[in-house]
Amino acid sequence: MDLLSIYAEVSKVNSIGSILSWDQNTYMPPGAAADRGAQMAYLSQISHRLITSEKVGKLLGELRKVELDPVKSAMVREIERLHRRKTAIPEDLEAEIAGLEPISTQAWVEAKKKDRFDIFSPHLTRMLELKKELAEKVGYPDVPYDALLEEYEPYTTTGQVREVLNRLGEELAPMVRKLADFKADNRMNMKWGKYAPEAQERIYTSILEDMGYDFGRGRLDSSEHPFTIGSNDDVRITTHYMLDDPRPALFSCIHEGGHALYEQGFHIRYKNTPMAEFCSLGIHESQSRLWENIIGRSIHFWKHYYPLLRGAFPGLSNMTLEHFHRSINTVKPSLIRVEADEVTYNLHIIIRFEIEIDMIEGKLSVKEIPQAWSDLYEKYLGIRPKTDSEGCLQDIHWAMGVFGYFPTYALGNLYSAQFYNAMKKQHPDIERLISEGDLRTALVWLRANIHEKGKLYPASELVKIVTGEHLNADHFIDYLKDKYGTLYNVYF
Ligand code: MG
Repeated sequence: MDLLSIYAEVSKVNSIGSILSWDQNTYMPPGAAADRGAQMAYLSQISHRLITSEKVGKLLGELRKVELDPVKSAMVREIERLHRRKTAIPEDLEAEIAGLEPISTQAWVEAKKKDRFDIFSPHLTRMLELKKELAEKVGYPDVPYDALLEEYEPYTTTGQVREVLNRLGEELAPMVRKLADFKADNRMNMKWGKYAPEAQERIYTSILEDMGYDFGRGRLDSSEHPFTIGSNDDVRITTHYMLDDPRPALFSCIHEGGHALYEQGFHIRYKNTPMAEFCSLGIHESQSRLWENIIGRSIHFWKHYYPLLRGAFPGLSNMTLEHFHRSINTVKPSLIRVEADEVTYNLHIIIRFEIEIDMIEGKLSVKEIPQAWSDLYEKYLGIRPKTDSEGCLQDIHWAMGVFGYFPTYALGNLYSAQFYNAMKKQHPDIERLISEGDLRTALVWLRANIHEKGKLYPASELVKIVTGEHLNADHFIDYLKDKYGTLYNVYF
């Protein structure tokens, strides 16, 4: 198919961009930043021209009249969606957003450092205008936010997200209040000792290998913020080592490992087609959260791995398995999203989702954001930030023009619980297997049901096929009630 050979070019250009971006975030000297920006802009121009070309439009028109098998038909559906979206966005609008991004990000860095929202607000105001314009150009079924959400969670509407997040918020807020009454017990204030990065790397590498991460097609490096990049035969992850606490790097390795297993798990014969790409960001995040939280923070997992961890780190010699397990599952309302536990985390997302919608719909002006932010933290978590740096300036997303991304983190949590529940139905003994160090059974199930499906189905259909149910918050809420009810000995 001619269309697939053009798409293969787009895909190759994008994968070159991934490697440049990996380099930028790991080893690139600072002096190369401007050149790298120009290289990335050039690549995105090539890929934009390829996908919006008249030839692609013509080929899509012809294919519409042909009967296709399900795989080809899914490929055409996805290429058509991308073609439609990219064609609808005028080149000068896209260029202005791309040009504003580094300036606005730089202003955000300074604003966060100096705790001065006014340094960032003019750039955010402009970015918001451009994104609203983009939403109008792209079009939407119901509200402008749909058009922005589509970039990250295609075929899912703002209304659907709102429905599940509303239910989640109603359940979580009282749960968090109840759990927060338990003062972190003294044992949690223990000194963690010292943890050499080399020793950490050694043990996290072996855990990643047990999970099934293929180091022959991947690698582990360190960077300021952990991330996963690449696809198929080149999928790289990073982590950030702390010298006085092994937990952050440990869990970011398991989290990024979950993302990486997904990217390594597509059918290689579909390489450079949409069938060897992730379904949606929510589904992507379900893979990282399932490994990090549902498996990685479970007592079953640590029954097997804690002796190994304690053997590697003398600093843990006085900590029992139960203490360690409690220390990785402490629920506490906090101001910073990226440091939040798995229960309160979703409230951070609900707050951002509400603010983003009001911004896009013009109900909230940029200068009103700090106040709205603090009020929502008070409402959902019972705490107020003292500064904007620990409030509305904490995340980079808006500076980069990324609106509609935050909800995918929460959707990932919901999908992860739905998938795990379906996995347990097929493997009722999965927890025993995990406690014996068998992580393969979980991976094989994920491969067959999610990874190998690529973009065959939209997320909403995938979850229906795999679990028999639509996207919902029930399984995640049950999972939290069960786990934290037992851990804290409370009844929800
Ligand atoms: Mg992630």
